[in-house]
Amino acid sequence: MRKNEFLTPKAIANRIKAKGLQKMRWCCQMCQKQCRDENGFKCHCMSESHQRQMQVFGQNPTRIISGYSEEFESMFLEHMKRSHCFSRHRRLQRAGKLKVEETPKGWFITYIDNDLETLFKERMKNKRLKAGMVEEEKMEREIQKQIERAEQMVGSDKGGEEEGLAKS
Ligand SMILES: [Zn+2]
Repeated sequence: MRKNEFLTPKAIANRIKAKGLQKMRWCCQMCQKQCRDENGFKCHCMSESHQRQMQVFGQNPTRIISGYSEEFESMFLEHMKRSHCFSRHRRLQRAGKLKVEETPKGWFITYIDNDLETLFKERMKNKRLKAGMVEEEKMEREIQKQIERAEQMVGSDKGGEEEGLAKS
């Protein structure tokens, strides 16, 4: 009975509250501030400190976002190291869903899309692309020939005209 109570949504919510964690939904990443609800979040967005943070962000968004990416990457790798040790993902690798490589630069995980339909579509797309390119090249050559022919005709016409002018 106690075990069931432990797993009820209310009990889980209470434990989350006790730990001081709130829904990420009302979290301002720029200020690293968590708000309790929508209203609190709105108030925070209008606050002076938040506006100042947004100005800082506006001045250099790329650097700040790449900082988040780095933070995510290091957290992800730390998590992998601690709780998975790649055991689960090695199993996925055997299933052909992930490619895991150890390189001098570190671990690399690649997701492999093995869906047959995707592979088929990809192959068809490549085929069509190639066919299109050949067709385009043909047309280009044809147009080039026509341009050359036209230039020759114009050139000889001009020559004739000049000759005519010189005579009169
Ligand atoms: Zn903020």
